[in-house]
Amino acid sequence: MDQGLLVPDELVVDLVVDRVKQEDCVNGYVFDGFPRTIPQAEALDSALKAINEKIDFAVNVEVPDSNIVDRMSGRRACLNCGATYHLEHIPTKVEGICDVCSSELVLRDDDKPETVLKRLKVYHEQTQPLIDFYKNQGILVEVDGTKDMAEVFSDIVSILEQ
Ligand SMILES: [Zn+2]
Repeated sequence: MDQGLLVPDELVVDLVVDRVKQEDCVNGYVFDGFPRTIPQAEALDSALKAINEKIDFAVNVEVPDSNIVDRMSGRRACLNCGATYHLEHIPTKVEGICDVCSSELVLRDDDKPETVLKRLKVYHEQTQPLIDFYKNQGILVEVDGTKDMAEVFSDIVSILEQ
């Protein structure tokens, strides 16, 4: 990772499985943004099977691409103190100026529409096939990610409490 190289799927899965063997996971655990590819999902399934565990639910938080691009392009960051804002959801007192340190705010390259669209392309190629993968296993649950954050959170919690 230090060399900026990709970590092989088996190594990632080994690290994850080591972690879920720890005591604070006895009542369950949630992976956020993992697995991201079919090979990772397959490696995870067999590694969990080896320790008599399995995934109960795969939660797909569904948000249309255009919605994601809009949300990201509204983000503003202060490169001086690291504070982050959103034009709509976390506005600053003075537009374009950091509340904390009064520096000028920027739209980070990561949040620019062209960058977001590139990442969405990777997502659709590599990660979206997981939806069918978990649907075929009968454990896929869909959550409407366009609702506000508290509602999305309680929707996910109510699935996990089943
Ligand atoms: Zn600042």
